[in-house]
Amino acid sequence: MSGYLDESDFMMVEEGFTTRDLLENLLMEGNKGAFFVADLGDVVKKHLRFLKALPHVKPFYAVKCNSSRGVVRTLAALGAGFDCASKTEIALVQSIGVPPDKIIYTNPCKQIAQIKYAASHGVQLMAFDNEVELGKVARSHPHARMVLCIATDNPRSSARLSVKFGATLKSCRHLLETAKEMNVEIVGISFHVGSGCLDLQAFPRSIADARLVFEMGAELGYKMHLLDIGGGFPGTENSKFVFSLATINSALDLYFPEGCGVEIIAKLGRYYVASAFTLAVNVIDKQEVPLDPPGSDDEESSSKKNILYYINDGIYGSFSCIFFDHTCPRPTLHKSCPFHLEEDRIADGLELPELQVGDWLTFENMGAYTIAASSSFNGYQQPQINYVMSREALRLLQGKLPQPEEDRESLCTPLSCGWEITDTLCITPVFTPARIT
Ligand code: PLP
Repeated sequence: MSGYLDESDFMMVEEGFTTRDLLENLLMEGNKGAFFVADLGDVVKKHLRFLKALPHVKPFYAVKCNSSRGVVRTLAALGAGFDCASKTEIALVQSIGVPPDKIIYTNPCKQIAQIKYAASHGVQLMAFDNEVELGKVARSHPHARMVLCIATDNPRSSARLSVKFGATLKSCRHLLETAKEMNVEIVGISFHVGSGCLDLQAFPRSIADARLVFEMGAELGYKMHLLDIGGGFPGTENSKFVFSLATINSALDLYFPEGCGVEIIAKLGRYYVASAFTLAVNVIDKQEVPLDPPGSDDEESSSKKNILYYINDGIYGSFSCIFFDHTCPRPTLHKSCPFHLEEDRIADGLELPELQVGDWLTFENMGAYTIAASSSFNGYQQPQINYVMSREALRLLQGKLPQPEEDRESLCTPLSCGWEITDTLCITPVFTPARIT
């Protein structure tokens, strides 16, 4: 595993057991705070599937999405590159031995001190989208190899990054000319269709735009050789991903065919980590509250109880994804009902069997933009992360097993290496009413 990861970094899920067995053991231990189970085998399998699905694209991992030790080390062991947005992220990946040529510093608006840090640590590949940034790089990093980040039109993404980043096609010629005048080397073009992208045409459209800018560069004498197609790939079950892969492959074949001398990379965040993490939280208190306003005589509703449950994690912690990533994590949902969020509640209107203090709830798909954006507000500690991997996934990671034969349909199925596949697994997060009191 190239020294990045060893067996003491995770718990091994032996043959005959599942990651869920392990989770349930942890739930039974008692006196625990909220915790994650992070299935590193899931990350391994996602990596192999990506290589198979987009064979001409080299994956980089967007560290911002989840910089936890096990994830970063597993991806380094798999040979992925790293997309860093800051000095701290560069330092993190370099601290485990990732060489600078496997790092791209993608923030298009960098502090001068951090550009100098990249320069002194051998990181050359960096992104930009404006003239001021070019000036800073020209003065602070003479060996920089710059990638021009272009804007994309992505109204159907949960995080529309082009609202703040990306040069318009109109401004690209001027930026390329300015870079020439400033003697800054431009090696390629990048884009990001937006995180949580649901528009299947966003990739082909952006790939075609990137081709236009390559042509523009060629007219100005540039020999660009790098295309960065960014992230935006879903990390949970989503059949649209299969189709978007096909559209990406055909757009790449059309505009950047094999042998055209352009290296293609992607910077994946949520794709790698979303489904690998399951969060277990504990009910620590509860309180019955009126269901209807006083005076209401609705008979049906008066037979129901409205209970507020207090759990040991929240929106200032791992559930910050509700605000920042626009997700709705739920332990289970029995019938559709109005769902709204107020202040620091994580969910309203869920129908649950009555819970007791000490009961556990588990939330799946909690790997992307959860821990990364959590705080220690109220003095809460980040939940402990329990890394696990199945022996089969470990052998895959070590290259000791052939890659599983999977058809294209299965590229988007849940990928963990040990979960039992149940009917409900793909549809709703699992509710684990394991009482430990
Ligand atoms: N690259 C850059 C520059 C980003 O800003 C982001 C997300 O914000 C990513 C990659 C990862 O995106 P995703 O998690 O959608 O794959």
